[in-house]
Amino acid sequence: MRIGIDDTDSPAGMCTTYIGAVLVRRLEQAGIRVVEARLVRLNPNVIHKTRGNAAVCIEAEGDGETAFALACACVEELAEFDAAGTNPGVVVAGVRPPPDFYHAALRDFCNVSEAIDLLESVGARYRGYKNRRGLIGATAAVASDFPDRTYELLAYRKRENWSTPRQVDRGSLFCAEEMTSPHTWDTVDRENDVVVCVPHTPDPVLFGIRGESPAWVREARSYVRSEEPACEQVYTTNQGTDAHLLPGKVGALREGRSYLVRGTVVGSPATGPGGHVSFILGDEGVEVRCMAYEPTKGFRDVARALVTGDAVAVAGSYKGESLNLEKLGACRLADAVRVRPPICPICEKRMTSAGTGKGYKCRVCGGRSREPEVEVLERRIQPGWYEVPPTARRHLSRPLVRGVPAWEQAFCG
Ligand code: ATP
Repeated sequence: MRIGIDDTDSPAGMCTTYIGAVLVRRLEQAGIRVVEARLVRLNPNVIHKTRGNAAVCIEAEGDGETAFALACACVEELAEFDAAGTNPGVVVAGVRPPPDFYHAALRDFCNVSEAIDLLESVGARYRGYKNRRGLIGATAAVASDFPDRTYELLAYRKRENWSTPRQVDRGSLFCAEEMTSPHTWDTVDRENDVVVCVPHTPDPVLFGIRGESPAWVREARSYVRSEEPACEQVYTTNQGTDAHLLPGKVGALREGRSYLVRGTVVGSPATGPGGHVSFILGDEGVEVRCMAYEPTKGFRDVARALVTGDAVAVAGSYKGESLNLEKLGACRLADAVRVRPPICPICEKRMTSAGTGKGYKCRVCGGRSREPEVEVLERRIQPGWYEVPPTARRHLSRPLVRGVPAWEQAFCG
């Protein structure tokens, strides 16, 4: 059976993955064998999310009625029921529903009645609390299908520590990264000298280590020195897989979805107020604005280095009529040129324009030239893929250390 839970937390506390970890232990105590715990990330553009739009799915073997009772009891005991935006959902399905609903919740928007129709069709047990919105995530979680997967070891804090500053030794996190990278990622951001894996929100998570296998995340974890955790859970996840990306086309992008799009840079990138960098991507006469926001730090230099005519592939969410960049493939770089009036061969002074279409003339000797000086500039980027730093990475975005999958590479031709 699959047990799905979602929408249990609020900005003031709790985390659905913590409830999942508690439930794993209670199921095992009740003689129900837990096969796998899954952390299922859904559409990052959903407005109702508390933080990272996560739901949990526990695959288990045993009595469904007991599992359902235990899951509901866990949620009723731990969820932030008093928060207006917290609307928990609990599902226990004896068979896995078709993955279409998961794909829709991952890449698009769903509603509660669609979730309930699906649950009814597969004879699942379910309970939606308050406005029952959590049933969307809980249903998507039990329907989830991970053709590609990564792992996260989550360590949770003892309850008495929940409102106190987290004690995690910074140096030990940098050591964990150094000893296990590229098999783990996003523990720290070395380029920006920032710890990434320790949250600042008032939830029970102490830290989370992401990596390519349970063995590697455990290896990284073994280097971490911290306050004593209450418990630890290794989740199988769709994080770091780009599962949210749809192949897209400029001019046919829909708000709140995430895409990989190909096009040609039109005009020069601009740095606007707040340090956000934007450029225009064109394809077959239609255009879209691409944004590299200030938190993407050094990635903005990649955007700034683009010139008219560069063929690129970009990945990101389409929001407010802009594509918010997560990753960029520089497919074919155009020559960057600087066109200026030429130097007069007689006076060795730079000529000036003689008027539109009339070439150039020397103010000193009156000499004329039709051709400008065209200087080919050295490009500041090479063809290849570039990504935002770990501090700015979305949960679902696939880090370049995991390679670029064939379907994405195909966008670069
Ligand atoms: P945390 O990551 O800490 O668990 P969260 O960011 O996952 O919190 P939730 O509290 O789970 O946020 O809120 C997300 C809400 O949005 C849930 O009710 C979930 O059912 C719903 N939801 C998730 N995906 C979609 C979607 N694609 N369309 C509509 N609603 C969705």
